[in-house]
Amino acid sequence: MTEVFTGSFTQQEPIAQAGIDAAMRVLQHGRLHRYNTLPDELSETALLEQEFAAQIGARYCLAVASGGYAMATALRAVGVKPGDRVLTNVFTLAPVPGAVAAVGAVPVFVGVTDQLVIDLDDLADKLPQARVLLLSHMRGHLCDMERLMALCDAAGVTVIEDCAHTMGAFWADVPSGRFGAVGCFSCQTYKHVNSGEGGLLVTDDPQIAARAVIYSGSYMLYERHLAAPPPDAFAQIKYETPNISGRMDNLRAAILRPQIAQLPTQVARWNARYETLEQGLRGTPGLRVIERPDAERKVGSSIQFLLPDWPTGAVQDLVARCAARGVELKWFGAPEPAGFTSRYDSWRYAPSEAMPATDAVLAGLVDMRVPLTFSTEDCALIARIIRSEVGAVYQQA
Ligand SMILES: *Cc1c(COP(=O)(O)O)cnc(C)c1O
Repeated sequence: MTEVFTGSFTQQEPIAQAGIDAAMRVLQHGRLHRYNTLPDELSETALLEQEFAAQIGARYCLAVASGGYAMATALRAVGVKPGDRVLTNVFTLAPVPGAVAAVGAVPVFVGVTDQLVIDLDDLADKLPQARVLLLSHMRGHLCDMERLMALCDAAGVTVIEDCAHTMGAFWADVPSGRFGAVGCFSCQTYKHVNSGEGGLLVTDDPQIAARAVIYSGSYMLYERHLAAPPPDAFAQIKYETPNISGRMDNLRAAILRPQIAQLPTQVARWNARYETLEQGLRGTPGLRVIERPDAERKVGSSIQFLLPDWPTGAVQDLVARCAARGVELKWFGAPEPAGFTSRYDSWRYAPSEAMPATDAVLAGLVDMRVPLTFSTEDCALIARIIRSEVGAVYQQA
């Protein structure tokens, strides 16, 4: 019998009752704007910032409209100006080069290894070209963060971390987002917490934090924050920093606060699904699973594997055959951008040179989402389907 998977790769879990109740309270009082508070009221947004800062061990946190907004704000707040060059991962998604473009800067792309992390040798070569690295922990893969920080510190390069796929992950004992000067997170539906849209920015630097708060559209109401620097940090910055509105609102914050508290539980659930998939795929002839480093404490919200040296037609064939059995795979080697998946040569607003080593990895790179609505039995079934289709295609190829 040919097994077929009938679940949805884009279905999230419902918002838990605590989030629904909190959202209803905000809707009932109607004060959705973060600075629309009663005299002694603490806004949901300010409380979210305080709670996320405490959870991740950051001095300051700012909640904003999206992960992309958090990254662009971080770039501005560390002093990136139009025309500057910014180092960034070549293997990432469109909001990352988009954030660089949003501030008028120009990306310098750094290659990807077959472990799906930034190529630190390529980075070392390119460090003299820029003063800032926007490091994307794409699909949750963390590079050797100690080596990366040593390289960047020695070169005087400021690191901004894009943690859209690593909220809740650690390298050794340090949370992702706490290595660089700034950590940026997304609360968009397909990430690790879900308020539809939203972003969080964390830093220990009072100047960066103060600039980010003003950029986000605080007007002169920054004293109503609970995870912002003291008023004296704003003394000059309040005159020099434009308002580029991108605030979070109390409705989203209300939905997010219980989810932030639940994050460690969700991480364990994601990893149980990931391990099941990985076990089911490991040892498939023609397919290579990504070996994760010991120091990495991942969040398995997606899984990738490599089809090394497969002809293009065979990869396409595999994707089509899996789709016919209900398993949605994304391929990073496709020449045209599709859905959420795109690659550096389709971001034509950003100059790039050919990167043959990166191209060789992307040519065989297959990616799959792992929503929490999948059971571990679903994951075992999906792995069996991929395994059998890889077997069929690999033999022919
Ligand atoms: C989703 C995502 C972001 C942020 O996206 P928003 O939709 O703006 O919240 C940043 N980086 C990566 C790699 C992403 O996938």
